[in-house]
This record gives sequence, structure tokens and C-alpha cells, in this order.
Amino acid sequence: MAQNPEDLLLRTQTSPVQIRTMLANKPPVRVICPGRTYRRDTTDATHSANFHQIEGLYVDTKSVSLADLKSVLAYFAKEMMGTSVTVRFRPHFFPFTEPSVEVDFSCHVCGGKGCNVCKQSGWIEVAGAGMVDPRVFRHVGWNPDEVSGYAFGFGVERIAMIKYGIPDIRWLYENDLRFLSQLA
Ligand SMILES: [Zn+2]
Repeated sequence: MAQNPEDLLLRTQTSPVQIRTMLANKPPVRVICPGRTYRRDTTDATHSANFHQIEGLYVDTKSVSLADLKSVLAYFAKEMMGTSVTVRFRPHFFPFTEPSVEVDFSCHVCGGKGCNVCKQSGWIEVAGAGMVDPRVFRHVGWNPDEVSGYAFGFGVERIAMIKYGIPDIRWLYENDLRFLSQLA
């Protein structure tokens, strides 16, 4: 029977990949999942109705800790942005992780002093992350007393904008060769 299009929702985040991965596998799992996501956002310099995320999920039978998550994201930050970048974790709420954090990189433009790019804060939000909520494990039939893990989701365009100093996300979708050739 055909589904009513009114009942369908384009995915707003790549997190559904986590559930499919855990339903189809046994722990440990380590996955990186790039994908396109959709939001009912009004397009402007920093928002787009569709963009890309990179989802990461690591679950092991041994105790995985928030310290593991922090070290992986700090390593990624330095590999992607250079060794001078510092990473900040802020407590936050996400439905699928507990505890949850928002992840900021120090602003590459001003080095953390404050500028227009970072709205004078010295920091730029790049990801959401946290420890997988035990209820998520129960829903896929895994015992949260036996497994633990972390998950994170980065905005790909956000990282590119920071790394290459791109002031407007729309430039990434206009297929202007004068712009694209600078990223080759
Ligand atoms: Zn700045």
C-alpha cells in the first residue's frame, strides 16, 4: 500500500543510520556515515534547507567513556584545522545521548579573540555529541549493562566554511566554477 506523502519526513539528521547499523550488527560497531539532511530552515548565509552531516558511532562491549569521545574529537580538530585549534565541550540536551555536549572549535580567523565570523565569542559550534543513551541500546535489543558508546554529528558545510573562510553557505551550492576551482 502506498504511503501518504503527508506522513513522510525527510531526515533532519543522519542519526537514523545509527539505529539501522545497530539493528543489523552486533557490538562492537565503529561507523562513519556521511549523508544529506533536510531542515525547514529559511536559507541565509549560514542556513540551508539541505546540507550534509557526518555521523560517527562507536560502541564496544567494554566501557567507553566521555573521555574517549573528547580525545577523538580533539584529535579530529587538530587534523582538520591545524594544531593551534582548541576544542570546547558545552553541556547540552539531545534525545539520543546522555550526557550530551555541543562541540565548539576555537575561531580560526581570530584565534579566539573574537571577530565577526565567530560573533565575537571566539568559538564556532561544529558538532553535537554524547554518550549513547541506554534506552537507545534497549530499543535495539542490546543490554546497556554490557555495552557503552558515543556518537557525534558534524556539519560538513560548517567545517568547510570555517576551514576555508567561506562567508556564505550558498556559495557551496551555486556551482560557480570561479569559486569551486579555488577548493581544488
Ligand atoms: Zn573569530
